Amino acid sequence: MNVHPSDLLVIGAGPAGLHAAFYAAWRGLRVRVLEARGEAGGQLSALYPDKRVYDVPGLPGARAAQVIEGLRRQLDRLDVDVRLNTVARTLERAGDSWSVGTDRDTFTAGAVILAAGLGALLPRAARVPGVEAHPDVRTDLPDPAEMAGRRVLIVGGVPQAARAALELAAAGATVTLTHSRALFRGDPTTLGGLETARVHGQLEVLAPAQLLTLTPDGADLEAGGSLRGVQADTVLILGGYLPDLSPVQSWPLDWRGEYVPDGPGGRTALDGVYVVGDLAASGGDFKLISVGLAQAAIAANHAAHHVRPELRVRPGHSSEKR
Ligand SMILES: Cc1cc2nc3c(=O)[nH]c(=O)nc-3n(C[C@H](O)[C@H](O)[C@H](O)COP(=O)(O)OP(=O)(O)OC[C@H]3O[C@@H](n4cnc5c(N)ncnc54)[C@H](O)[C@@H]3O)c2cc1C
Repeated sequence: MNVHPSDLLVIGAGPAGLHAAFYAAWRGLRVRVLEARGEAGGQLSALYPDKRVYDVPGLPGARAAQVIEGLRRQLDRLDVDVRLNTVARTLERAGDSWSVGTDRDTFTAGAVILAAGLGALLPRAARVPGVEAHPDVRTDLPDPAEMAGRRVLIVGGVPQAARAALELAAAGATVTLTHSRALFRGDPTTLGGLETARVHGQLEVLAPAQLLTLTPDGADLEAGGSLRGVQADTVLILGGYLPDLSPVQSWPLDWRGEYVPDGPGGRTALDGVYVVGDLAASGGDFKLISVGLAQAAIAANHAAHHVRPELRVRPGHSSEKR
């Protein structure tokens, strides 16, 4: 098992985690973010990327995916290591530092900011007939480059399904997209692109259609009253995501139900471990992006001072710095 040191570990790449990572890196800390999903953005990119959000300061009516794009762009100029598909499972003291264990590696840091929101957003299990018959069934977005030259059947109406269809077709996969209903969720640009790609024969859309069963080389469907076999090397069953707090719930943080109590600066019961965003008890009924961002800014600056006492807690104004 490899050990990866940094100054600060952020658990969760939702809005609170991304902003905490930005602030700490901007203060000069070496920051690493661990994210369970294959994509940053927390609930915004997993659950409602296509919806408009009206109460994020300065971005009225932006779609949730655009809010995340902005938070990610803010990290671009800073050296932050965002590890996707990495679930934090254990937390242990390691001298003056903390050690966080995942399935593959160990990450150590002087401080940890827990921004795990409702929990690790993990894909829903594939519940379709014959799922064990096909050799390559997946439930999350693959790397498009990995799908080039493959026949891919995408099943689902969530925003990730329409997006994956376009991205995989553009990467050189032969894509069939199917859903039990005629409508797909997605932002207008993606849905417009899907229709254009369909009309130009760049991918096939079968909807509404009933998935009867997966077979060793694809699937049998019923569409428009007739049976249809679809050949597929890979089947993507995209049914959305469910939160799972269990990976962190054994951590000794004086849990109050599904919340972690937080004191001034986001401090928890453990010295050097902070909590922000939806998981922080003080937010209570205010599970809001703006609340999580503010908590993240405060906790990141306290963490910066904790790791490097020579840094003041107060960050000063960014407008006066380069
Ligand atoms: C449908 C819907 C609409 C909403 N609309 C609005 C709105 O209009 N305005 C508003 O302000 N808020 C809205 N919200 C609430 C808002 O999305 C949340 O307040 C916000 O996402 C909380 O951010 P967070 O970073 O604390 O947590 P999350 O967004 O939940 O992010 C937490 C991240 O941590 C990861 N994670 C968890 N555990 C682990 C682990 N053990 N290891 C690694 N990674 C882990 C998760 O996979 C996830 O990516 C809405 C929520 C929903 C569901």
